[in-house]
Amino acid sequence: MSDYNWCHGPECHQQQTQSRVRGSGDNKVLRTVKIKQGRYNYYDRGNNQVSMWDYFCNQSCLMDFIRLHLQSIIAIAPRSKALETPIKVVKNKYESYRYDWNGNGRAERVPYMATRTTIKSVDNDNG
Ligand SMILES: [Zn+2]
Repeated sequence: MSDYNWCHGPECHQQQTQSRVRGSGDNKVLRTVKIKQGRYNYYDRGNNQVSMWDYFCNQSCLMDFIRLHLQSIIAIAPRSKALETPIKVVKNKYESYRYDWNGNGRAERVPYMATRTTIKSVDNDNG
């Protein structure tokens, strides 16, 4: 594996930045950005140990690629039905306060029982 990739952004070589200019005299071009692998220390690597920033010089090039190839990308892992994650919804009462405005422009702090709703993970084996 080489230490560099060319940016895969379909319009990378059309962006007018000084960093893309190559050549001399009247033979200048805008060239696709060359990316050093691991340049961001792989902070974004998932389980597949691949960094998207090894293949795209910036988010704009990444989004251009996705827009151009979206149907092919979706075809790799199509989703024909919804996925579900088992959860428990826990409601807890707790004392809170609201503020009532009385006639003289002052707020009065009034206690009331509020409800806090929390989503908790459940063990899939028990689900
Ligand atoms: Zn690029």
